[in-house]
Amino acid sequence: MNDAASGATPKFAIVGAGPAGFYTAEALNAQCPGCRIDIIDRLPTPYGLVRSGVAPDHQSTKAIEETFEQIALQPNVRFVGNVEVDRDVSLDELRGFYDAIVLASGSPHDAPLDLPGAHLRGVFGASAFVGWYNAHPDHAALAPDLDHAGAVIIGNGNVAIDVARVLSKPTAVLSASDIAHHALDRLESSRIADTYIVGRRGALDAKFTTAELRELGEIEDVVAVADPGQIPDAVGDDLPARERRIKAKNLECLQAFAKADPASKARRIHLRFNSKPVEILGRDRVEGIRFERTRLVDGQAVGDGTTYDIPCGLVVSAIGYRAKAIGGLALSASADRLVNDEGRIDSQVYVVGWLRRGPSGKIGTNRTDGETIAERIAQDIAPAAKPGFNALEPLLLARGVTWTDFAHWKAIEAAEKAAARTGAPRQKFASVDDMLGVCAPAARAASS
Ligand code: NAP
Repeated sequence: MNDAASGATPKFAIVGAGPAGFYTAEALNAQCPGCRIDIIDRLPTPYGLVRSGVAPDHQSTKAIEETFEQIALQPNVRFVGNVEVDRDVSLDELRGFYDAIVLASGSPHDAPLDLPGAHLRGVFGASAFVGWYNAHPDHAALAPDLDHAGAVIIGNGNVAIDVARVLSKPTAVLSASDIAHHALDRLESSRIADTYIVGRRGALDAKFTTAELRELGEIEDVVAVADPGQIPDAVGDDLPARERRIKAKNLECLQAFAKADPASKARRIHLRFNSKPVEILGRDRVEGIRFERTRLVDGQAVGDGTTYDIPCGLVVSAIGYRAKAIGGLALSASADRLVNDEGRIDSQVYVVGWLRRGPSGKIGTNRTDGETIAERIAQDIAPAAKPGFNALEPLLLARGVTWTDFAHWKAIEAAEKAAARTGAPRQKFASVDDMLGVCAPAARAASS
């Protein structure tokens, strides 16, 4: 990077204040000392999926927010919340204001469940369902009907496990988390006794991580069960050693679930495999789901023509996510990321996190992503005395956008902590208006 030659301070905008955005800010700071970084998010609150995706009963995972707060508090880093690219400011405008723009806005949409009956009431995508219990303002009004004995979750990833755990865990335990108040209320009167997690491939093909799978066997008043006929005796030795070790640990959990007595607890989480959904049953709302039994052919789940039904009143499809196009940039053929060349989109725009690689990996995976892209930006960019926030702020004011800074977020956070149930870390606001109601006067003062 050529800032010494030009004398200009490099100005960067990061779009998306989740893990990928914060790790990129940290890495840019290390690569380009003295740079200015504005982290823009469409919500008034930072932390993305750490706040609205990580399950509420996994508070220790959310502790990463403390690290992100330290990044946000660096004097050259600014949080600009409640500003949406394509709504309040365009990508082309950001190109005029910043030397480089890093897109880190994730994959907010559910992969489509392309089945007859998928439109029925009571069928939800995991993005919406997880957002609902995590108080994401987009999904706070979901109000799923839990007045049924059965729920089915389609998919064999960690999101499916999160949803099953939240549906099954005693509310006395969930109450000590930051689960949305509206979700806790509904779960308190839930009649769901049997939750099915159903995968289209075999037990050893599931994408669960062992810690998450094991946890299903440790929930108070809940028994995790599996059909012994679907659980193999051993992992095949044709796999690489690391993969074999991981699968063997999952298999240990599943073998224990296969021995569990379904009648031993009031609630059950059933793990079902080799079943691909073919139809959601019901007239105006979901009453059941039909699966076709499968076998694996060249790694693919191929139906054997026989079917069975699971009666249920709730279906959550946890089959992965899709990206949201931004700034007119092209999405990949599967629409789960932006078309990019190892994080570079053009001479000024870069992409990190799920929006770069698709919805995979853990929070820490984004650290490597951020470091890689920061190195690349440092090599590519010759700072051109761009105005940065000095141009963005007047544009937002002229358009009547009430943006939040980090102090406003801290005011929102303080109000959430003050409103917490006994034993809970916070009670999240579930509407943008309520968030701005706590901090808007400060926003006006800050921008006057
Ligand atoms: P995922 O791990 O990719 O799992 C998606 C599941 O959906 C797979 O079992 C896949 O089956 C299945 N699927 C896809 N299309 C389907 C279809 N048309 N019909 C039936 N099943 C279908 O995705 P995820 O669970 O959404 O998780 C996303 C990422 O977040 C993962 O990296 C995950 O580990 C991470 N995450 C981590 C945690 C945690 O660490 N606690 C919590 C939540 C999420 P196939 O395998 O057959 O394609």
